[in-house]
Amino acid sequence: MVDPGPAWPVASAAGCRIRLADGRELVDGMSSWWCAIHGYNHPALNEAVADQLGRMAHVMFGGLTHEPAMALGRRLIDIVPAGLDRVFFCDSGSVAVEVAIKMALQYWFAQGQPRKARLLTLRGGYHGDTFGAMAVCDPVNGMHERFTPVLARHLFAPRPRSRFGGPLQPGDLDEFTALLGAHAQELAAVILEPIVQGAGGMWFYCAEYLAGVAALCREHDVLLIADEIATGFGRTGRLFACEHAGISPDILCLGKALTGGYLTLAATLTSGRVARGISADGGPLMHGPTFMANPLACAVAARSIDLLIEGPWQARVAAIEAQLRAELGPLSAHPAVAEVRVLGAIGVVQTRQPVPVEPLQRHFVGAGAWIRPFGHLVYLMPPFVISPGELSLLTRAVASGLDTLT
Ligand code: PMP
Repeated sequence: MVDPGPAWPVASAAGCRIRLADGRELVDGMSSWWCAIHGYNHPALNEAVADQLGRMAHVMFGGLTHEPAMALGRRLIDIVPAGLDRVFFCDSGSVAVEVAIKMALQYWFAQGQPRKARLLTLRGGYHGDTFGAMAVCDPVNGMHERFTPVLARHLFAPRPRSRFGGPLQPGDLDEFTALLGAHAQELAAVILEPIVQGAGGMWFYCAEYLAGVAALCREHDVLLIADEIATGFGRTGRLFACEHAGISPDILCLGKALTGGYLTLAATLTSGRVARGISADGGPLMHGPTFMANPLACAVAARSIDLLIEGPWQARVAAIEAQLRAELGPLSAHPAVAEVRVLGAIGVVQTRQPVPVEPLQRHFVGAGAWIRPFGHLVYLMPPFVISPGELSLLTRAVASGLDTLT
């Protein structure tokens, strides 16, 4: 608001390249906060928006409906984990989380259980910037600490210690189990990011832990909300991260890559059982944003899903994963580095000290790379269509950037 850091004017973007106004080109390592999975200025996505624009840019979604929303809803129901066949479209990831929380609360309230009004989540999580979402972000590292006095008071279990790909460590689920058992009567839902905790620390955890959480939620009659806003649409090597654990949540939040990074749109899905429960008292779900199911966004989202499903996304993500392991892996021996971890099209270098964001970012831009580090993390989440040469430019920039820290 008063002293903005450096910002590089962008003239255009195409494929995995961001062209600056001064003519320089940067290889994109961020997918614009993880959403531009097909790269920029994609002909098929451009065409989907232009076609829809010729029909209508927007129309209210109360009492009216339209083919782009219906087509997108059908596609989502086909690809998400089983049992989720009710779709609510909203504006952004944070709002999708608000809607998920409302669904869970209304479900219990409509059945005469007003005490079930709290949430249980994991430390290290991140769910967005609006007030309901902030209240379930990590209470210390979640970037929202200053709002703590006015946030709803929820319950936090420790971040899982058990790592992705490894076994569930003895005792890792104990505290979660104890909290759920002790508070089930006042818990509406558990909310978590399946497998990958993103903005809260880029942490990859054990699929068995997630399966354990899902089983415990069922046992204690507490709903499970999976926030796949960051993980959805292939980023972790599965279409949805829940698939790593073979689970289906009661409520699923999608956003970011839903539109291939073209327009803001999110979706909250649930089952028929939860949907009927929400309306058990005769009322609708109490949410109705102005730009709900915006036709331009729905049209490009449906096209983006088709592009993903019809293309070799699994091979692409697997190739990115292998290259990230080969090229970032050796950096674990670097004196500035605490750990390197890779999962799907996500490569994370955790540093020993917090990184100096501005000088490091200047270094990356000088090296022709768009990489935006934060905290102790320098990470890559490139578009799935990145070439091996472009990805190597990014990993070399990470390596030379780390050299500037020592
Ligand atoms: N949930 C998760 C897991 C996220 O990563 C984010 C965004 N980083 C959000 C919710 C919030 O999404 P948005 O920024 O679109 O509001």
